[in-house]
Amino acid sequence: MKIVKLILLSFFVLTLNTFADAYVLLISFDGFRWDYLNRGLTPNLERFAKNGIRAISLEPSFPSGTFPNHYSIVTGLYPQNHGIIGNHIYNKFSNASFSLKDTSAVSDPRWYFGEAIWETAKRQGLLTASFFWPGSEMKLDYRRPNYFIPFNPKIPYKVRIDSVIGWLKLPYEKKPKFITLYFEETDTKGHDFGPNSPQIDSAIALCDHLFGYLIEKLTSINFLDSINIIVVSDHGMAEIDKNKIIVLMDLLQIGKIKINSYGYLASITGDKDSVEKAFKVLESNENHFKVYKREEVPEFYHFSNNPWIGDIVIIPDYEWTVAYDSSEYTFKVKGNHGYDNHWMDMHGIFIAGGPAFKKAYTTGTIRNIDIYPLLCKILNIVPRGNIDGKLELIEFILK
Ligand code: AMP
Ligand code: ZN
Ligand code: ZN
Repeated sequence: MKIVKLILLSFFVLTLNTFADAYVLLISFDGFRWDYLNRGLTPNLERFAKNGIRAISLEPSFPSGTFPNHYSIVTGLYPQNHGIIGNHIYNKFSNASFSLKDTSAVSDPRWYFGEAIWETAKRQGLLTASFFWPGSEMKLDYRRPNYFIPFNPKIPYKVRIDSVIGWLKLPYEKKPKFITLYFEETDTKGHDFGPNSPQIDSAIALCDHLFGYLIEKLTSINFLDSINIIVVSDHGMAEIDKNKIIVLMDLLQIGKIKINSYGYLASITGDKDSVEKAFKVLESNENHFKVYKREEVPEFYHFSNNPWIGDIVIIPDYEWTVAYDSSEYTFKVKGNHGYDNHWMDMHGIFIAGGPAFKKAYTTGTIRNIDIYPLLCKILNIVPRGNIDGKLELIEFILK
């Protein structure tokens, strides 16, 4: 009799778990490098990670910039496949440009391919919300979250958290199942002062304080045990060496070619002959950088299968910066990212906890494209087909 009761009870618990609503809060601390968690400045994040999942690092996709990677996280696609190949994009066919500073481009759905998690979730009947995330403001109702806030860095961090708490206090029929939350502090301070400055240490401590505030608020509304929290960053940050700069102007005569240089990457477009000439010059001067024709960029960058990339791609070596002329890169920045995503300095963080996750579990590096299928699994929805991310590479962190 006892055994029958036990079987019935475990069946009941199992059923409850299967049908319990899953909630996910995805938080991004922009530019929070993987090793910032080892500086003894983050007691709240460390406590949370200790009880849940902590990966050594989160590998971004190439290039390791803000827009490409936030959009990879929510689509499970490499930038070459979701279209946001940089914070700045030039479409040579339509002569149109995308920039993260251009609010009309940022909300233009024509730049964004693939399907973000909120679109997948919405299509399958779940409510979603975003307090900032690249791609969340598209001017096409079915492609954006049910609740979203247009990006405005002036909105104080605690107001962002309070708003998320407000969404979670909504009645059940209005409460979103998936929410994003974004903080730019570590990116801004990392650029201005570098990853080894006292200012970045204060930024790290502030992020931790904000996380502590969030946990306190979730506890006060009795929701901490019901929600899955995933903390990520889009990339890390490298110290810039002012003496390690590649000046393209010294090598190339700008004429029929268009050069876009971003420090961590440069690309060249133009007619066939001019591109060929430029390539030959660069190839014979390959010093502290690698030059590739777009189709020949090594497979491990996954940065070739998109015509907006440019005809030639220049990837600087570690610690080197590529610029068109020496004045262009003014070196007001002390830190930068966007470089080779395999470089540990470019890696971000991944920590997670909540009812779906294993407890006290540490793992190696996780790829950011695998987060989309993970989110779908937790939310119990069917992921979009043809994605680059693989559930089987990340699923082991779930209970
Ligand atoms: P970057 O360091 O150039 O890769 O870009 C980081 C900056 O992107 C942050 O400091 C923010 O100001 C900006 N940013 C972050 N999210 C958004 C967004 N959703 N829309 C527009 N700009 C954003
Ligand atoms: Zn960023
Ligand atoms: Zn940045």
